[in-house]
Amino acid sequence: MCGGCKTVPVDKLKESHKVYKTFNYQLQPVDKGYANRTLYINLSEQSIREKPVTQEMKDIFTGGRGFGLYHLWHAVTGKTKWNDSENEIVISSGPLGGITQYPGAGKSIVVTLSPATGTVIDSNVGGFFGPFLKFSGFDALEIQGKSEKDVIIFIDGDKGTVSIEDVEVTDMNTHVLVEQLSTLYADNDEDKKNIAIVSTGEGSETTFMGMLNFSFYDKKRNVIRIKQAGRGGTGTVFRDKKIKALVVKFSSLKGNSNHPADKNLLDETGIKMHREIATLDHKQNSMRKRGTMHLPIIMHDHDLLPVHNFKHGSHPDAAPILNWDTRLTHSGADGCWFGCTLSCAQVIHNYELKTGPYIGDKVYVDGPEYETIAGVGSNLGIFEQDHIIETNFYCDTYGIDTISFGTATAFAMECFETGIINKEITGGLDLSFGNSEVVLELLHQMARGDGFGKVVGRGVRRMKQLFVEKYQADPQFLKDIGMETKGLEYSEYVCKESLAQKGGYGLANKGPQHDEAWLIFMDMVLNQIPTFEAKAEALHYFPMMRTWFGLNGLCKLPWNDIVPEDNADQPEPEKVPEHVQNYVNLFTAVTGREITKEGLIAQAETVYNFQRVFNLKMGFGTRRYDAIPYRSVGPVTVEEYQSRAERYDNQMKEIIGVDPADKSVEEKLAITRQYREKQYEMLCDSVYKRRGWTAQGVPTLETLKRLKIDFVDVVEVVSQHLDV
Ligand code: SF4
Repeated sequence: MCGGCKTVPVDKLKESHKVYKTFNYQLQPVDKGYANRTLYINLSEQSIREKPVTQEMKDIFTGGRGFGLYHLWHAVTGKTKWNDSENEIVISSGPLGGITQYPGAGKSIVVTLSPATGTVIDSNVGGFFGPFLKFSGFDALEIQGKSEKDVIIFIDGDKGTVSIEDVEVTDMNTHVLVEQLSTLYADNDEDKKNIAIVSTGEGSETTFMGMLNFSFYDKKRNVIRIKQAGRGGTGTVFRDKKIKALVVKFSSLKGNSNHPADKNLLDETGIKMHREIATLDHKQNSMRKRGTMHLPIIMHDHDLLPVHNFKHGSHPDAAPILNWDTRLTHSGADGCWFGCTLSCAQVIHNYELKTGPYIGDKVYVDGPEYETIAGVGSNLGIFEQDHIIETNFYCDTYGIDTISFGTATAFAMECFETGIINKEITGGLDLSFGNSEVVLELLHQMARGDGFGKVVGRGVRRMKQLFVEKYQADPQFLKDIGMETKGLEYSEYVCKESLAQKGGYGLANKGPQHDEAWLIFMDMVLNQIPTFEAKAEALHYFPMMRTWFGLNGLCKLPWNDIVPEDNADQPEPEKVPEHVQNYVNLFTAVTGREITKEGLIAQAETVYNFQRVFNLKMGFGTRRYDAIPYRSVGPVTVEEYQSRAERYDNQMKEIIGVDPADKSVEEKLAITRQYREKQYEMLCDSVYKRRGWTAQGVPTLETLKRLKIDFVDVVEVVSQHLDV
């Protein structure tokens, strides 16, 4: 990541390397995608042990997110808070994780209780850690307790040892730390490809939006690169436990490291997909060339790119951040795990930093991904590529989620522009939309834990409370414009014109993150799901399909960011049926378990419902927690209405059946609001029914029974809500 950063000489690193505790375990090969063990570490007790993965875990919870939820459920009570010692961080790959025959198989899923939401969060990330952990002998890593001092957990999958240790002289910020640790733990430069590191940065200690960086080694450029488990404050929990880094070393990666049940089927399915990518990617989304950077222009053209705290979906000055081709000087495609020919992991080379503690250093900046471009760019009214790259770099190395940073800062900026807060409150920062210099200063403050940056780092929900209590802000207005649900900041799509996407955000178990359901195009652009029933069906199928990837250690992108040439001629083309069949084949090929397309959805539905019950256990999970801010439903202000007056007036006439001609803008706002809010409630009714939940959004006992999760403790939690 760093082309010339100041660092600590290797002998100094070695001198300060201390080992506090070591655990030896038996090395054994993975069998049909499972290592059949969990590694449990308690940092309060400095204890390390292994636990068996049971057949029931595999049958019911599959792996990945399912294993994370299973372990966390048994570790915490309904009263546990994110910073209590019993909260855990669980990292797991999944039975298909680590295959190299099919693209997109290097994902890890992080599960913990979130400081942002107070309930369970899952975050999906690429890089080498999950697969290396499994091949070293563990399907999941479960970390409980809190250390008194900073620690590094080192899993040596070559030797069969796990140790709790530290290297006191290292930095905390990721781009320096990963260089130091890979130098220390690798035998030589060639060996660096066998090291995977999970780390965060100083910003994780001072905010509730801390994220985790997962490293992967870029052999082509001889640099260590990172992907992010961004959402929900996983990095904040990591630092609360005083973990500096997790390091795993595994040197024997092979094409059959998963010991699949049917390697021929795995190879055949993979070869077919690689051919498809080679022939079609450049005719479709050009993921290999642009990654998710192909999206800003599309979103802008459809009025979906957030601008000024999600007020608008486009802006006349947006052109400089819509196309990034001239910034991408790569020499070929970049995958975040071996065998990923879709290779969307773009990087900006040798960017010279202009601010902050590393000013003047030349660095690699991973991304920027679409979400970052929209979140720290257009949504803040900043249309400068360098600003986005610089903010992306510092968010990454500080361990701050770019999505939450962008959405929380956009909220603070709107509060500044509307006079709710002023320079006296912000410590002199002029938080007007478009002020890139001040946004970077805010970010550096956040990492230092001082100034107004500290306030914004607490997230939208806590800012709302503070501004009402301390500065007499109108609570209803803040509720309308504060883009959070369940305590998590929205990811970066304007969903006002897509009822299904409003549901995709509002009904997501973890909060409004698009990785659970992204239905804007199907709903708004293509009009494929016009009725409540069709939307409810989509809000059943697509969140389950996307959940399934997280159970198996897979990336979602190869599913539908490229499609077979004849996909449009197939029944239900939006599901990409041929690719779903590929996943059926992959699951059977690796695990030896026969499964159907419906079986994949049932696997996900089981875990999805379990997660809904987990929310109930933590005091959330009912209908009222699926409420969404009105900014995501329709126009809040006169300015917003007037900016799209023709659209809203036409809708009033043609859909609501009211003539707007003699109405004031305020009256039209009220009529539009009443209609749209009712539509959202009706959508919730339809989705709950389709999912087998009560009108309050609680899974029924029949649903639990059908999914075989009617365990005594699960039924006990649910029963408390069934009469409400
Ligand atoms: S498609 Fe992109 S994010 Fe997904 S595994 Fe491949 S390189 Fe990583």
